[in-house]
Amino acid sequence: MDNEILKERLTEDKYSEWKNKELIQEYNELSEAIQKTTRGFLGYPLNENSGLSAFYKWYMQSGLLDLVLNNAGDPTLPSHLNVDSLCIEKKVIQDFAQLFDFPKDGFWGMVTAGGTDGNNHGIYFGKRTLWEQSKETPILYVSDQAHYSNRRLGHLQGMEVRIVPTDEMGCMIPSEFEKALDPVKPALIVFAMGTTFKGAIDDMETLNKIIAKKKVKYVYRHVDAALFGGYLIFTGLAHLVSQQKQGYDSIAISGHKWFGVDEPCGIMLCTQKVFAMQKSDSVPYLAMDMPMISCSRCAQSPMKLYWLLHTRGKYGYVRDAYVCLQNAKYLYKELCKMNYPAWLGPASNTVFFKKPCEEIMHKYTLAPDYDSRLCGDMAHIIVMQHVRQPLLDRFLRDLRMSLQ
Ligand SMILES: *Cc1c(COP(=O)(O)O)cnc(C)c1O
Repeated sequence: MDNEILKERLTEDKYSEWKNKELIQEYNELSEAIQKTTRGFLGYPLNENSGLSAFYKWYMQSGLLDLVLNNAGDPTLPSHLNVDSLCIEKKVIQDFAQLFDFPKDGFWGMVTAGGTDGNNHGIYFGKRTLWEQSKETPILYVSDQAHYSNRRLGHLQGMEVRIVPTDEMGCMIPSEFEKALDPVKPALIVFAMGTTFKGAIDDMETLNKIIAKKKVKYVYRHVDAALFGGYLIFTGLAHLVSQQKQGYDSIAISGHKWFGVDEPCGIMLCTQKVFAMQKSDSVPYLAMDMPMISCSRCAQSPMKLYWLLHTRGKYGYVRDAYVCLQNAKYLYKELCKMNYPAWLGPASNTVFFKKPCEEIMHKYTLAPDYDSRLCGDMAHIIVMQHVRQPLLDRFLRDLRMSLQ
């Protein structure tokens, strides 16, 4: 770096240090409060054991620290800005395409700004694919327990959204889906691969049979696997998210949930066939056809994802998945032993149960929901990597005490 610029920066830093004592104090207070919360954080699907400190150490020393990077563009094409990490992003996509069992060379994907962004692109690609095939706007089908973003995105993209009721465990009811399904119109279906509250997995196989039975001509299947997609690929149930086995067209996964990237990000994958149906917008200043909606994208997210995939590694995540699912079963069994109303779906890390008192809700940052068919007011615990048995035991002890 130019010496003059460096000197200027150093004095600026000194200046800001002196000037911003109050700001630092405010930030320190915030940091302490966050750390206190994460010591008992049970209600939301964040991996608070992310393991990126080595990455940050490298980043601090790399010379990138004061620079702005930007991944505008298609990661499968050569870089145009040359201040991006598109080459790493491409590798992330290749790794994930393999993990989700896409055919070799039969996929396209990108690192997104989060699960919602992945759903947005999946739904958008679906709408355009079906339009190309049928010259009609599809109807979007999604369950009432799927993440709210899917409904919003359906509306945003100008589609009729049909909400399909779910059973008590949160799965789309096949007979209700059959009733809702219009055989004449193209169908864009969002399958929930782990609903937000109950952790339910829509039964793709059964629902696909209904689609076949009703002879729907144009169908697009998007899978919202924000959280469950992260760990299922590392378990014996990986076939549930396998593209070649399930035959879906696109899938969205969050990077900041299971994988523990410390900023919102995600992965969106689709088949090459779907990608070929996207009429791109030619953007001369990027020297490429832009298939995606968002232009600027985060350059650090793919670097962190790739770092984690290769440091935590596949075996690390296999172990994490095993431990988390075991701990979810442990929590469920302990609640049952107490005769406390509790539920746990298959392949789920999300235990839901009767809502405890407000003090416990607050202490463990639990999320509320309501289902009159079960016990009315409910809460859930999502067993992520930082949720180990001692923490669960502490929660169970508090719960028992609150019931006396
Ligand atoms: C968290 C979640 C989302 C939203 O993802 P963001 O990354 O928060 O945008 C979507 N669907 C499901 C099933 C989720 O669990």
